[in-house]
Amino acid sequence: MRFTSKNLFPLALALLGGAALPGCSDSASAPVDPAAPTRPAEPLPPLPSLPDGLTVRLTPRPERSALDVEVHLVGPEAARAKELGIARTWAGIDGMAALRGIRVRDGEGVIPTQPGPDEGPDRILVLGRAPTSHLAITYGVVSAPKDAARFALHLDRERLSGVGHTFLLLPRTNEPLDVHVQIRPGALAPGASGASSFGAGDDVEENATPAELANAVYLAGRLRTLDASEKERLVLLGRPAFEPEATLATITHAHAALARLFGGAPRSGAATSASFSYLLVAEPGLGKGHDGALLGRSFGLWIGEERPFDAAVTIAAVHELSHRWIGGAVRLVAEGHEQVWFSEGFAVHYARKIALAEKRIGARDFAADLERTLVNAEAELPAHARSRKDYQRGALYAAALDAAVRKASGGERSLDDLVRALLDRAAAEKKTDLPVSALGELVARELGAARGEELDWVMVRGHGEITLDEGAFGSCFHRARTKSKVYELGFDEASLRRTPAMIRGLVAGSAAARAGLEDGALVLASKVPAGRDEDADEPVEIVVADRGRGRKIRYLPVAERQVVRWAEKTRCRD
Ligand SMILES: [Zn+2]
Repeated sequence: MRFTSKNLFPLALALLGGAALPGCSDSASAPVDPAAPTRPAEPLPPLPSLPDGLTVRLTPRPERSALDVEVHLVGPEAARAKELGIARTWAGIDGMAALRGIRVRDGEGVIPTQPGPDEGPDRILVLGRAPTSHLAITYGVVSAPKDAARFALHLDRERLSGVGHTFLLLPRTNEPLDVHVQIRPGALAPGASGASSFGAGDDVEENATPAELANAVYLAGRLRTLDASEKERLVLLGRPAFEPEATLATITHAHAALARLFGGAPRSGAATSASFSYLLVAEPGLGKGHDGALLGRSFGLWIGEERPFDAAVTIAAVHELSHRWIGGAVRLVAEGHEQVWFSEGFAVHYARKIALAEKRIGARDFAADLERTLVNAEAELPAHARSRKDYQRGALYAAALDAAVRKASGGERSLDDLVRALLDRAAAEKKTDLPVSALGELVARELGAARGEELDWVMVRGHGEITLDEGAFGSCFHRARTKSKVYELGFDEASLRRTPAMIRGLVAGSAAARAGLEDGALVLASKVPAGRDEDADEPVEIVVADRGRGRKIRYLPVAERQVVRWAEKTRCRD
């Protein structure tokens, strides 16, 4: 995934309810409503003398658990600036909520701002007047709570990490600018230095748009930089449980294999830059967790300090890197919406395939990934699992399509040829978004008109079953039917939202039915836990009306089902 939203939601709430900066009397960091009229003229310090272009200066203030941010736009571009923007929510994180004491000025004084329309992907501040040739934006950013999503700004005495979307308020322009990223880690523990997706060092110069600055990782602390080549480097923050050299070899190897498969570096989309950074953060307290994202010209991965770079992390890393092409250089769109089943499902398919082909994982790991991503797709999924279904159906479709193309062409052609054709078309048309019919036409050419037409019906509309042949994953993997636990609420959840709430669509034999729930029961109160997986350990509680009184029904929303599993064959065991 490019980001996980599942565990990020609590963070957004935490930030929105966030307290002011503790013990902070610095006026630049005092909470200020960005919409409030500016204070009466006060003597402003002189502006620093800076080169033309955009300078972003980050100064960690660990004593206040905050980061001071200065953004300077200097030169003719400054006078054209009309608005500032930051992502409304990115990976579930509301960046604006962590910003304190925003001050916008130029050489003449403070520039008043007011919030733009409450719509679109960015929160906007509209400038009250045109700046002169030096626009300066200063503010503080409060470190996110420890348990918040890793992509948010995290800062302590040792280190800083965060993705620009979550803390950078930048002038809105689509023009590439001369950019200086200056990280001033002086207040962090000794030995600290700075790095970002643009390179390592305390002052890195690049040509980039503000959007690219937002779509980048920023790090400071004790860093280790390993150059894989002139164009590829790994920057590591923290002390990981894995060996950095071997990890870099694994990542660059898989990345090169993806490039060979997809015909070289991406020629459209955001990640076309030839140089590439892998930014890895070994995070204390993250346990077994990991979170990765492809961010423009870099790949950021946060991984628990004690976790090895095992098969699952390797597959996750290859998944993110495959987004340079799938979902990055080309996306499929229907009725104005990105088709997640393509961007994510095909990335799932290629991640494990490349990792196995390049011997970065074993057959058993491949089977485990098939199980994780396909098992429930062939079983019935409840309606709420639509996004998981996108991943799974997309991956299933990719595998089925690959097998069908190989079979029809006698092994001459595969899904790879179709994806390359999509990438070629996107590059030729100089756009990343193609209609679903672009893939439909390719499928029709390989497998006949009927299969091409079925694409829209099956994948965009979500009808019908996608089945895989026994040999879909080659001769080392076979299909087995076994019993497995799946999440099952046991009735139509929408019935709880009606007034009056009355149970509908009860599943016969389900845990709900066994606990005494009946179709037509009048619901007085209900509690359905948020966790929707087969490991549910919190019960569903429903109070139904029963002869003038309430009767409480409790059960675990789990069922045993026949599911299809893919297993490695014994002779292929590693
Ligand atoms: Zn993804």
